Amino acid sequence: MDKIKMTTPLVEMDGDEMTRILWKWVKEILITPYVDLKTVYFDLSLENRDATDDKVTVEAAQACLKYGVGVKCATITPNAARVEEFGLKKMWASPNATIRALMDGTVFRAPVLVKGITPLVPGWTAPIVIARHAYGDVYKGVELSVKGGKAELSCGDDKKTVFDFGEKSGILQAIHNTDASIRSFAKSCFNYALDTKTDLWFSTKDTISKIYDHTFKDIFQEIYDNEYKEKFEAAGIEYFYTLIDDAVARVMRSKGGFIWALKNYDGDVMSDMVATAFGSLAMMTSVLVSPTGAYEYEAAHGTVTRHFRKYQKGESTSTNSVATLFAWTGALRKRGELDGNKELSAFADKLEKATLDTIESGEMTKDLAGMFSLEGVTVKALDSREFLEAIAARL
Ligand code: NAP
Ligand code: MG
Repeated sequence: MDKIKMTTPLVEMDGDEMTRILWKWVKEILITPYVDLKTVYFDLSLENRDATDDKVTVEAAQACLKYGVGVKCATITPNAARVEEFGLKKMWASPNATIRALMDGTVFRAPVLVKGITPLVPGWTAPIVIARHAYGDVYKGVELSVKGGKAELSCGDDKKTVFDFGEKSGILQAIHNTDASIRSFAKSCFNYALDTKTDLWFSTKDTISKIYDHTFKDIFQEIYDNEYKEKFEAAGIEYFYTLIDDAVARVMRSKGGFIWALKNYDGDVMSDMVATAFGSLAMMTSVLVSPTGAYEYEAAHGTVTRHFRKYQKGESTSTNSVATLFAWTGALRKRGELDGNKELSAFADKLEKATLDTIESGEMTKDLAGMFSLEGVTVKALDSREFLEAIAARL
């Protein structure tokens, strides 16, 4: 068979530990035998980030913006223990945070659904995609613990009293966001909804937060009315705003099948709830979409250190590669769409189908084997590499 040709390269960002091993195997077993893979390669391993003073991360993010589609392996975000383990020059920032900041993007997290793994909310039969605004609010908050006095909020000539503590002690917090970042967030959400032909919900607490949250609501509505209303109608999809508490109630009663856009903190919390309810972090994919329409695909989980320690000792591991594999298929499909390369997009579809068929026929990694149940199917737990080979056999 002739290999599928690519015209534009993918931006490939390699990573750390167990996911770096899976990365190599996914390419070797499932991609390069079929695709004449073209990538612009960046080694984002912690060793190389340290050696390049983290310039490699910045260059990778710039390449994503330039080429339009990237795929990233999970990477270590160093803490004090990692600084010692790797003898680092300094505690480098989270690569994901660096890439997010440079691409000014919104993160969309989508679960991979398979028959045999029932969501903890049984009514959810279609994916719920969480779109989390990744800038500001409490993540850039300024806080004070006070022993009394009058707290004021001021900016330029504007000033308001927050609270007069008098003699009482207490706590204070100031948070901010910028119109530009909220606009980028809104555009990324509208573009992603159009791209995936999926309804978009957005919710905040605008009735209580009449300026802060209300501004989010107003900016979304203004951009929708001016730039997206007609496109949404043509695509047969809907934009729907509701209060966050109403949204939570509706989400629980829903069948799924929509994108739920949320402010930074709400998205942080709700994405963990939704991911858990859909089964496993190893089945959760993530894509960062810039307002200019550049895409960076990755798995939502980390480098699976515990499994890597076993791998290093030569022990067998059963690490689930689905999220990593779907990061590759997401990127290949998008590259195919942008280049008008139907074969490449079709290959991504087939690889995804082969993966789901493999699991649904009973062959899977241990994390899934423990929760899988489908009538007439016998479960066989495979090791990390056997699982990829089982997919290849089907493909
Ligand atoms: P983790 O790598 O997500 O793993 C936590 C646990 O979840 C694992 O020990 C494993 O449970 C289970 N798990 C996660 N992914 C799995 C998979 N594909 N297959 C099977 N089981 C899976 O989180 P962590 O151990 O807290 O973090 C490890 C490193 O990853 C850290 O250095 C952190 O900085 C980094 N990290 C990177 C990213 C990213 O690049 N996007 C995100 C999060 C964390 P069992 O041990 O019970 O089998
Ligand atoms: Mg969280």
